Amino acid sequence: MEQTFIMIKPDGVQRGLVCSPFPSPLISSSFASFIHSSALHCVKILPTTILFLFSPSTLEKKGEIFLVIFVRRSGLKLVGVERSFAEKHYADLSAKPFFGSLVEYIISGPVVAMVWTGKNVVVTGRKIIGATNPAESAPGTIRGDYAIEIGRNVIHGSDSVESARKEIALWFPEGIS
Ligand code: ATP
Ligand code: MG
Repeated sequence: MEQTFIMIKPDGVQRGLVCSPFPSPLISSSFASFIHSSALHCVKILPTTILFLFSPSTLEKKGEIFLVIFVRRSGLKLVGVERSFAEKHYADLSAKPFFGSLVEYIISGPVVAMVWTGKNVVVTGRKIIGATNPAESAPGTIRGDYAIEIGRNVIHGSDSVESARKEIALWFPEGIS
């Protein structure tokens, strides 16, 4: 199954956009017990995303895509990012004029790093996240709903299967159980 690396950036964490840990009032008790019985860790992400992705009717509509909502126990962590680590994560952008401010942004506070697993999850994840510039992100996407500035756009998602492989190896050297 395909995997992608997703990170809630410092502004998303600081603004409390990552919902409170499981059990959450946003998740119905029957569905919560389903998650629990599946031995999967609660998936936090963002409130509207949870409402959007966690309703059973959405699962019926989306089929296998529901797998993106499950993050295995070791596949989600709150971490502070060192400057050199942020520079490595965004190494492909090192020549860009905004690289310095991008690195400052990513190290400005803890981030929530996670792996989503699912069919075509790289593309699906990017669709859920929305366009890089929130001004161009559609309503209903995370950036479209929660961000205003391109330099503070709340969430990262791998842009290809190859990037996902590299980023998961960088952020989860211990592996995903
Ligand atoms: P991310 O990699 O964070 O998921 P992305 O893939 O949508 O974002 P990239 O081109 O990889 O976009 O840029 C990485 C990040 O750099 C963007 O999310 C944004 O925060 C910042 N960024 C991109 N373009 C600009 C810009 N023109 N001005 C300021 N910041 C920018
Ligand atoms: Mg990118």
